[in-house]
Amino acid sequence: MNRTWFTEDHSIFQRSVRRFVEKEVRPNTDTWEEERGVPRDVWHKMGEQGFLCPCIPEAYGGSGVDFGYSVIVQEELARSTCTGISTGVRVHSDIVVPYLVESGTEEQKDMILPGCTTGDIIMAIGMTEPDCGSDLASLRSTARKAGDTYVINGQKTFISNGINCDWIVLAVRTDPDAVPDYKGVSLILIPADAPGFIKGRKLRKMGMHSQDTAELIFEDCRVPSNYLLGQEGRGFHILMQNLQQERLVVCIGAVNIAEKMLEITLEYAKSRTAFGKPVSSFQHNSFKLVEMATEIEMGRTFLESLIEDHMEGKDITRRVSMGKWWLTEMANRVAYQCLQLHGGYGYMEEYLICRLYRDVRVQTIVGGTTEIMKRILTKMMGL
Ligand SMILES: Cc1cc2nc3c(=O)[nH]c(=O)nc-3n(C[C@H](O)[C@H](O)[C@H](O)COP(=O)(O)OP(=O)(O)OC[C@H]3O[C@@H](n4cnc5c(N)ncnc54)[C@H](O)[C@@H]3O)c2cc1C
Repeated sequence: MNRTWFTEDHSIFQRSVRRFVEKEVRPNTDTWEEERGVPRDVWHKMGEQGFLCPCIPEAYGGSGVDFGYSVIVQEELARSTCTGISTGVRVHSDIVVPYLVESGTEEQKDMILPGCTTGDIIMAIGMTEPDCGSDLASLRSTARKAGDTYVINGQKTFISNGINCDWIVLAVRTDPDAVPDYKGVSLILIPADAPGFIKGRKLRKMGMHSQDTAELIFEDCRVPSNYLLGQEGRGFHILMQNLQQERLVVCIGAVNIAEKMLEITLEYAKSRTAFGKPVSSFQHNSFKLVEMATEIEMGRTFLESLIEDHMEGKDITRRVSMGKWWLTEMANRVAYQCLQLHGGYGYMEEYLICRLYRDVRVQTIVGGTTEIMKRILTKMMGL
């Protein structure tokens, strides 16, 4: 695929990420899946090579490069199939850090951003609560001003990087009387060692076993009032702006993992024989493989145009909402068919497709569900 933005420097960077994945990630993925976590050491190694938050301005320790470098990291990590790293880094570099870059004060940026590039600081974002996910504006966690501090109470769940995070951007209600609801939402930066911030259970998931996902509890948790990110009551607005990039990186993951699933399935189906022939050669199966290749290629073309538009600073809200639901549903269709083509072996842990089938399921849920994407689109289409 010809990428207009892709330069020789991007190519050099891509090769070094690839080498890193081959040496440090691929050989350890099965162990990390078993151990249900990735050691911090890997984050430090990524930081040393400039793979964490490459887009952060140089003044705060980053490389100040374009979003294309983040795309490269996301693609190589997605294809490594190690969700502990791919999802963890995606949330850190491309979802949470941009909040600080765009809305943080100089003091907040100086305090946090340099550590984000070295791996000394891992970031998380806390929006979802036990009683509210899609309907974000109805969140119940509160932050009450008390002198020059905020006192925070509430609970968050399903938080990626929840156990390992050093800082979290927390969505809270600062004005319980605000009408409409969303106008009472603010974002506050909470360090992991803040009194009253309790890291709860590491959640046991259907897939993405190496990825750290947790419940977080805030009991009279106190932070200085200058840890407010942006202005009071503007939290929902900031979230909505940044969610477009979050959805785009989920799209990148979906297409890359679909390509990977097809690649391993083609190899398997060509070498596995039944009735004296490769299973790929039966017309039904070859048509399935052709259909998947077609959907993936069409998805890839759409994704490339989304990346390009985003890098040009265009508003991608409508098209990324389309991409988020369609590409993640497509990746799940591909997972189903690829596992089917593996027969019984597809159901065995020794075969990669077994894990990918599980891991990919969440993509239609995180970052806004398929139904929420369609809801956004129905509004945009005036339906
Ligand atoms: C592995 C994992 C990692 C996650 N990481 C994070 C994280 O780091 N930070 C964070 O804040 N959150 C995170 N989440 C939470 C995720 O964003 C939510 O699960 C998601 O937004 C859906 O919310 P919910 O689970 O409460 O589902 P609900 O909102 O309860 O929805 C249940 C079902 O109802 C449907 N539904 C809801 N409203 C409508 C409607 N109006 N019309 C039609 N259908 C509707 C939904 O699409 C869904 O199918 C993570 C979740 C998972 C599973």
